[in-house]
Amino acid sequence: KAKVEGGQGFRFYAPAMNARALERLDLEHGLRRAIEKGELILHYQPQLDLRSGQIIGAEALVRWRHPERGMISPGAFIPLAEESGLIVPLGEWVLREACRQNRAWQIAGLPPLTVAVNLSARQFAAGDLVALTAEVLTATGLAPEYLELELTESAVMADTEGFIETTRRLKALSVALSIDDFGTGFSSLSYLRRFEIDRLKIDQSFVRDMVHDPGSAAIAEAIIALAHSLNLAALAEGVETEAQLRFLRARDCDEMQGYYFSRPLPVAEFEALLRVPRRLEFPDDSPPPQRT
Ligand code: C2E
Ligand code: MG
Ligand code: MG
Ligand code: MG
Repeated sequence: KAKVEGGQGFRFYAPAMNARALERLDLEHGLRRAIEKGELILHYQPQLDLRSGQIIGAEALVRWRHPERGMISPGAFIPLAEESGLIVPLGEWVLREACRQNRAWQIAGLPPLTVAVNLSARQFAAGDLVALTAEVLTATGLAPEYLELELTESAVMADTEGFIETTRRLKALSVALSIDDFGTGFSSLSYLRRFEIDRLKIDQSFVRDMVHDPGSAAIAEAIIALAHSLNLAALAEGVETEAQLRFLRARDCDEMQGYYFSRPLPVAEFEALLRVPRRLEFPDDSPPPQRT
């Protein structure tokens, strides 16, 4: 909405709006070609077990290496891809590339791990996600146990019955399923007992604030308790500090990922990490979790 103050505001604001709309068009146009031109790449962020300290998985996170603009983060183009429908071919590329890469690591003799791939709500509505997943697993030779799909509450809300049916069929393939950014959506919790998922990913906003803010602490604790009572694993996202690590260990959280251990890494760096496995070190006064 143009903010008109004595006429001046409008004159200054309108060209800015146009520039932004043009930039948007330009980005959308570029994104359409980015896949074919090989401009998309995946970075991998390690996921760690909070008992053993070992790397158990890697989340694949897409980046766009733009020829003129340099590296663009997903926050700047995933929303655009979702609105334009480009998320469907983009998401298919990510799924295939992540499975291919994980299989390549296994063939190279690196310790086996699960690769987690983010899915948008729109990928549920478009085509047959289950058939695509099955086809990608066959084509890449990756065993389904080594693939995890990260779903969001927005996918649940868009079409709950369709979501339950699709996830039931995905579980029948033996892939792992998680709910990303858990606690930030507005879906009813009742779906949690109607389909088989494997883990809840505690949204990083709660993790960021839980050490200082009692409200965030209560929510993080409640999510861990909810996960455990439903026999799911709880993974904390965005762990940056030792205090957060200590908090999570004391509350029996199962897994974590975050800058505290590692940022998302380019393939070569992630591989180096797997070759000389680095463990997560726990603070001396951090008690081992009780649950086994
Ligand atoms: P997400 O799936 O919740 O991924 C976690 C985001 O948090 C990543 O940002 C990651 O780099 C960042 N992160 C990890 N540890 C820390 C930490 O300790 N502190 C902070 N401040 N941030 C941390 P990124 O890579 O920019 O991705 C942002 C979002 O873009 C993702 O959130 C996901 O929703 C979306 N996204 C990324 N790749 C894909 C994709 O291939 N497909 C789809 N549909 N969405 C994607
Ligand atoms: Mg994710
Ligand atoms: Mg998340
Ligand atoms: Mg997120």
